[in-house]
Amino acid sequence: MATASPILKIEKLDHFTAALGELLDETAEKGSPEFLNQVGSLLAELIREDDWLPSSSAVPHPQYYQQYCLHRDPQSRFSVVSFVWGPGQATPVHDHTIWGVIGMLRGQEHSQRYVIGSDGVPAPEGALEVLSPGDISIVSAHHGDIHKVINAHHDQVSISIHVYGGDIGTTKRHVFPLEGGPAKDFISGYSTPVPQ
Ligand code: FE
Repeated sequence: MATASPILKIEKLDHFTAALGELLDETAEKGSPEFLNQVGSLLAELIREDDWLPSSSAVPHPQYYQQYCLHRDPQSRFSVVSFVWGPGQATPVHDHTIWGVIGMLRGQEHSQRYVIGSDGVPAPEGALEVLSPGDISIVSAHHGDIHKVINAHHDQVSISIHVYGGDIGTTKRHVFPLEGGPAKDFISGYSTPVPQ
């Protein structure tokens, strides 16, 4: 059986980042629901096939979920990240402060949105989202920016591809403790050196 060459695999990601760059060039209302639907369509095309992600960006860590930077726009208008979830791994309740579009590539993840009470306690809002390969989810000021994400599998790795409206690895954002109180500032960084 023929397999795609490494060059063709990389071209799929390059095609996506070029198309997103063009969309940003021609869009005045960046971050609008219409714009984010268009980003979701481009991302859905990228994750429709699961043969392009470099194996080095698919490696889980025994303790921590991994965030491999696949692409950072030279003007920092967007970044593309491979999130690799070991069995049962989960984020805290967190925000992004910039728009994000999530596409499920392998396995399955759960995303629960939250609202923060006046005492700082996060309260679940809406139903648990179950993301399976090919599914798209959006975080933004319009869609809700605060959520917690969990690998739905306790016995296997899950991988989702995230696109953000800025350089997410250097973006100052927040974690919301379950017990309430002040939000904690954090900057996620990336799990590996950023490709130049
Ligand atoms: Fe998130």
